[in-house]
Formats: sequence, C-alpha cells, structure tokens
Amino acid sequence: MTKIWIDAGHGGKDSGATGNGLVEKNWVLAIAKQLQTELVNAGFEVGMTRTNDTFLELSERAKKANGFKADLFLSIHFNAGGGKGYEDYIYTSTPAKTAEIQKTIHKNVIARITKHDMRDRGMEKANFAVLRETAMDAILLEAGFCDTTDATILKSPVYQQDFCAGIVAGVKDIFGSGVTKYQAGKFSTSNDAISGKNIKGYLAAGTKVFVYKETEKTLNITTTKGIPGSWVLKTEVNTGKR
Ligand SMILES: [Zn+2]
Repeated sequence: MTKIWIDAGHGGKDSGATGNGLVEKNWVLAIAKQLQTELVNAGFEVGMTRTNDTFLELSERAKKANGFKADLFLSIHFNAGGGKGYEDYIYTSTPAKTAEIQKTIHKNVIARITKHDMRDRGMEKANFAVLRETAMDAILLEAGFCDTTDATILKSPVYQQDFCAGIVAGVKDIFGSGVTKYQAGKFSTSNDAISGKNIKGYLAAGTKVFVYKETEKTLNITTTKGIPGSWVLKTEVNTGKR
C-alpha cells in the first residue's frame, strides 16, 4: 500500500506564523487531520508527524517519516511576510521525478483554489530541513499569507476543503487509488456493472488503480494510466469521495 506522510508544521512552543486571528500551528493541524481522513478513505496508508499540539524538531519530523518508509512527504504550512498566494517547495536538488510530483500537486491545488482568489506564486525550490533530510519525495505547501487579505480566504472552510481536495487529487494522480474495501466485480460495460450481469472477474482488494472514466454510478478503472480498463460499481470500491 502506498504510504503518505503528513507533516503539520510547527506545534507546541512554536506557533509558526500568526496574524488576523490565525495561528499557523492550529490551522495546519486541522488541515493535516482532514487530509489524513481523506487519504485513508482513498486507500492510502497515512503517517502523521503530530496529531496534537506538540513540538517536534525538524530533523525529528524527517526521521519519523523515514522510519515509516513513506512514499511521499507532505509538509503543510501557511505564510507570513506581506505576500499573497499559494506556493510549494521541493528541495534544491531533486530527481526529475520529484519535480514531476510537485507539478502534479501544484496543478491540482491551483485548479481548486484560484476560484477563491488565491494567487499562484508558483513552484519553488528551497534548502528546508524537512525537504533535505527526508529520504522520499517531499513537498512543502504554503497555503497563503495570514497577514494579508489572504487571511480571509484561509479562514474559509470551503477554501480549506478545496485545498485538501487538491492535494488528495494530486496524490491520486501520482499513485492511483487503492481498492481496499471490497473485491470489486469487473464488467465489460457500465450497464453490466449496474445490472450485475456478465461479470468477467474480480479486482482484488489492494489493487492500485487509476480512474479512466466515470459515470454517475460506475467507474472505469485501470491499472495502466490512460488505458481503458474494467467497469465497476462505485459502491463496490473505496476511492475516497467516490
Ligand atoms: Zn510554517
């Protein structure tokens, strides 16, 4: 099963950025928990740096994720310093694969947050400890600025939901969705899946799949991205919000 590490920035004695009534350590913890729920529902195994208001050194965060053998490290933050917009960071020297992952996450997040008037500050690189010391692909997300008009956006539950949804969609794009709950029946057509007729086999629990096509009640899922696969009932598979 694909393992995702969620690193809620700051905590305990380290509040992170503050402004307009927002406290970074609290905001990012709420987001981290929401992300945890959504990623677990989508079939991922999730590890967390912290699930309450505790302080951890940066190296300790990376160490925990390395011990968990995560496939991806997501560090959640917001910004201060007078700017506006969303940005994300990967380490200064990374394999091309990490840059691709950043592109995928960035694209999915931006697609869902620009309607909130959150600006796109672009994809950045930085020598941050959590990016440097993690053994897996790692990305740090800055959700907006707490000390400008971005604060109103950050406070919006709809923005928070869309921000999370963007990350989850990006992770699914990268790793596919794990079918975890059920053995889903495989059918040649969407109608067959609905009627339950002409079953041509089963998709085992834990299979990694990508969604090729979607109808109201069914999904066409495939193990090879971009190539049509088999039809299954949505109620048979566990792919997050579907
Ligand atoms: Zn921060």
